[in-house]
Amino acid sequence: MNITKNVYKIKCDVHGCKNNAEYRIEFKKLLRNSDMNICKDCLKSLYIEMAKIIVPKSPQNMLTKSGFKLVKNKEQE
Ligand SMILES: [Zn+2]
Repeated sequence: MNITKNVYKIKCDVHGCKNNAEYRIEFKKLLRNSDMNICKDCLKSLYIEMAKIIVPKSPQNMLTKSGFKLVKNKEQE
């Protein structure tokens, strides 16, 4: 999946929205005509809704998962 800047003057695909679609969401694994044109406002709303489902990992969790550990050097204390 890819989100690109829309080069065409197309209306937002979201029902009831009359803005120009600034962005295009490309679903590469599906059919070509399943691409979605979306305006910045709708993209933001989509992002907010997604964030309720998919919680981003905190930097601390990412560091721990990658094997990085904060080790205090006791010899210097
Ligand atoms: Zn829209």
